[in-house]
Amino acid sequence: MKYISTRGQAPELTFEEAMLTGLARDGGLYVPAEVPRFTAEQIAAMAGQSYEDVAFSVMSPFVGESFSAEELRGCIARAYADFGHAARAPLVQLAPNHFLLELFHGPTLAFKDFAMQLIGQLFQTALKRSGRRVCIVGATSGDTGSAAIEAFRGLDNVDVFILYPHGRVSEVQRRQMTTPSESNVHALAMDGHFDDCQARVKDMFNDFAFRDAVGLAGVNSINWARVLAQVVYYFTAAVSLGAPGRAVSFTVPTGNFGDIFAGYIARKMGLPIEKLVVATNQNDILHRCLTTGAYRPDGVIPSISPSMDIQVSSNFERVLFDAYGRDGTAVAQLMEELKQGGFSVSQGALQSLGEQFLSGRASEEETTQTITRLRGTTGEILCPHSAVAVKVAEDLRDPHVPMVTLATAHPAKFPDAVEAATGLRPALPPRMADLFDRDERVTRIGNDLGAIETLIRERVSN
Ligand SMILES: *Cc1c(COP(=O)(O)O)cnc(C)c1O
Repeated sequence: MKYISTRGQAPELTFEEAMLTGLARDGGLYVPAEVPRFTAEQIAAMAGQSYEDVAFSVMSPFVGESFSAEELRGCIARAYADFGHAARAPLVQLAPNHFLLELFHGPTLAFKDFAMQLIGQLFQTALKRSGRRVCIVGATSGDTGSAAIEAFRGLDNVDVFILYPHGRVSEVQRRQMTTPSESNVHALAMDGHFDDCQARVKDMFNDFAFRDAVGLAGVNSINWARVLAQVVYYFTAAVSLGAPGRAVSFTVPTGNFGDIFAGYIARKMGLPIEKLVVATNQNDILHRCLTTGAYRPDGVIPSISPSMDIQVSSNFERVLFDAYGRDGTAVAQLMEELKQGGFSVSQGALQSLGEQFLSGRASEEETTQTITRLRGTTGEILCPHSAVAVKVAEDLRDPHVPMVTLATAHPAKFPDAVEAATGLRPALPPRMADLFDRDERVTRIGNDLGAIETLIRERVSN
């Protein structure tokens, strides 16, 4: 399996190379040259299998020769062994034909663990084989950083630096990043928004001298291996609800478009997905783009669902690449226009996006009301991100088709929003009950590429 860049100017890579590289050297994102299609029989065979067995079937064709079957099975087994639920991604019912896919039973209580725990194992396996070291640099609106630190802490051959927007992550998120004591972990609190952090990470990848000197590797949701790991739970959920014999719809609380892009890949692989719904909070650039064609960032407004407070949604580039008939030059042109303030999607591309996605937004008030109401109707306590999606799913779903709404974080990760809606402060699971007593270690840094690169050069251990 070969991987190509969405901007058409970078070398083709294998799965392992694309995983270790992250962002392509032409500034694009790696996508598989073609997506394998599963037959109905292959999908039907997943019924009743463990999460790990489905993960192996779904990911093997994409991994190709990069890892042996035994290595891949081993990585999958270790990645999910510490999850707090035997099903890994259990489904619970919210209403007739409406289900919640709980993706928050991993070690940092957000769905990012599904991809990050696996990527940690795959990196470890690949780096041990080659004797290489890498320096992982990531930007986070809160959950990616904690998941990355949890996955890479203490691993050989890896340093991990995470940039998060100072003062804009929840206390639980911050503590998950600042309390690990391993010397290969570096939490950097940067002045600015998530988009600023993400822009500085992109700058570092485009500074080839720096990139090569420190052995930069990326694990943000642009990393193809992360998207791939997330394809798996679309399969386990749909198969539990009757696929391939019955089509299922999904609603996904969306920020950087990684999670929903995984659903799009699952559909391309032959999983019968009827509707794929993009749910946004008040930072609704994706909803506006999918309805009007205009993609024009106009500033982030902080919300109670901070992991979706994003205006530059990196993985959107991957669907644009398909919507423009895989024309890398056209995509590169759009991204140039984005630097100047925004772009308009062509009529043809907008129509093709409309065939793949529906979208909706939930206001802050609707989000809070949904948390309150669902507690009353189901007893389920939703995190604010999941509540955004439940609200949008309720608005857009067809009652005759099972709707699966993705619950992306545990309510205890966002206790203030949940308490405001329900009067209850959700407790952390017992295994992390001492989080508030642990010592924090963090470096404050300005929104300044030179200063960040200097700090990384000084601290990296190669
Ligand atoms: C990251 C995150 C999202 C957004 O996912 P994307 O893949 O970036 O679209 C939604 N909810 C939570 C809790 C998250 O951590």
